[in-house]
Amino acid sequence: MRVARLALCKILFSHLSRMHRPSASRQMSIAAGLKNSSIFQSQGLIGGKWIGAYNGKTLQVNNPSTGEVIADVPLMGRRETNDAISSAYDAFPSWSKLTAAERSRCLRKWYDLIMSHKEELGQLITLEQGKPLKEALGEVSYGASFIEFFAEEAKRVYGDIIPATLDDRRLFVLKQPVGVVGAITPWNFPLAMITRKVGPALACGCTVVVKPSELTPLTALAAAELALQAGIPPGVLNVVMGNAPDIGDALVTSPQVRKISFTGSTAVGKKLMAGVAGTVKRISLELGGNAPCIVFDDADLDVAVKGALAAKFRNSGQTCVCANRVIVQEGIYEKFAAAFSKAVQNLQVGDGFTEGVVQGPLINEAAVQKVESFIQDSISKGAKIILGGKRHSLGMTFYEPTVVTDVRSDMLLAREEVFGPVAPLMRFKTEEEAIRIANDTNAGLAAYIFTNNVQRTWRVSEALEYGLVGVNEGLISTEVAPFGGVKQSGLGREGSKYGMDEYLELKYVCLGDMNRK
Ligand code: NAP
Repeated sequence: MRVARLALCKILFSHLSRMHRPSASRQMSIAAGLKNSSIFQSQGLIGGKWIGAYNGKTLQVNNPSTGEVIADVPLMGRRETNDAISSAYDAFPSWSKLTAAERSRCLRKWYDLIMSHKEELGQLITLEQGKPLKEALGEVSYGASFIEFFAEEAKRVYGDIIPATLDDRRLFVLKQPVGVVGAITPWNFPLAMITRKVGPALACGCTVVVKPSELTPLTALAAAELALQAGIPPGVLNVVMGNAPDIGDALVTSPQVRKISFTGSTAVGKKLMAGVAGTVKRISLELGGNAPCIVFDDADLDVAVKGALAAKFRNSGQTCVCANRVIVQEGIYEKFAAAFSKAVQNLQVGDGFTEGVVQGPLINEAAVQKVESFIQDSISKGAKIILGGKRHSLGMTFYEPTVVTDVRSDMLLAREEVFGPVAPLMRFKTEEEAIRIANDTNAGLAAYIFTNNVQRTWRVSEALEYGLVGVNEGLISTEVAPFGGVKQSGLGREGSKYGMDEYLELKYVCLGDMNRK
């Protein structure tokens, strides 16, 4: 990992001279400004204290757009994670015993602080993740919405009274927090993937150890700083980062951790799922997707182009719900391909702080190489690049927004997540064929359909083996709806009232001898 990082830095700096200079210097001043802000932290958080790695080691956080080092953060491992777990464990009894209203007020205050620091948090996301500032600000609102929503849900953790089967008994169901939660999150939504877990966990009375991606820890640390400012007690929220396998192993094997919530790749998710067997703890998994975006002949062309564009190119194609296969019916295929390519051509690529830019860099060199290998594979099997298809002239990890036609099911572009700005177009004849192609994958997170036929809307939505379906809409995530996948895209749901269940245990209480005088 460290060797790859060094190699990456060399490549990044070799491209630096080709970047827009004004933007690079503006970024340095933004970074300097942020470092002086009240939300900036570059140490781990354990038991309410900001601390470094016990052996003093650090890792660099780079700006993917320029290659500059933004900050050094601690390279933590097993020992720090065990201490963070102990802090969370010690904080659990008092946090879980607060009234729901008290926890709710803390969360609401945290939400207010996140929103009042929206601009700085958005800048931090753009700096370390690369997404355009407008999109980053959107992530702050989206991320904060989970804290606001679950602050309210905290007060609605109702149990049940079950009609008794014997007249001298009363039967109750209590809902109680599971305990300490380990939350492991990816780099593509540095804030929202954390709040979507921590919001409901804290609302239920759980305490948490968060492990953000080493690529984007600064947003997580800033959010944790705001949690402290909001009065969330020490130890309730802890943040460690560094050696991912060691931290993951410590969380997974600890008997004090009662639940793992993971968002990231399917490969790592499977490892964690196997790991929790040793201590029989609960796990929820938000894993990779392979989203089909089906455009039927009867779709409104403009709506379909706009929707597919949003579903595909958000965060430069680096989201789990990004359209990975655009499956177009033969009657509209040529018209759609032309209109879609024209729209893709207009997407402005560049530094996320530059006005008008809607496509930032990919997260790192490995991500670009993955896209290149998928493109190569598709060309070798007969696909045609009708737009883009290569690294952007800006250098670094910028890649041209790309449209590929004549993609078939046996190509990597159709089988796996490309996680980049590449839209592969596939052709189909009948509705049955579209459903078969769409479901021909182990993934099952998001799917999109574009049609003006109401009956088809229902038929196809029900037939798709996916956890989320967007109909004539490419952006569908919201805090009030359940988010999660089926098949190998994951287990459990985040967001919405259902998101609370992931952090609650049911306890049945039988009260006997009611008729004793
Ligand atoms: P990843 O490599 O699996 O990393 C995700 C997190 O797991 C990071 O914090 C990473 O740490 C950590 N990690 C890596 N190896 C680990 C190990 N052996 N044990 C414990 N933790 C480990 O995934 P990614 O590349 O960051 O994220 C992209 C993937 O996430 C895509 O597949 C995407 O579809 C998926 N995703 C899914 C959702 C969803 O809601 N379903 C949302 C967003 C993303 P380091 O980064 O520090 O190495």
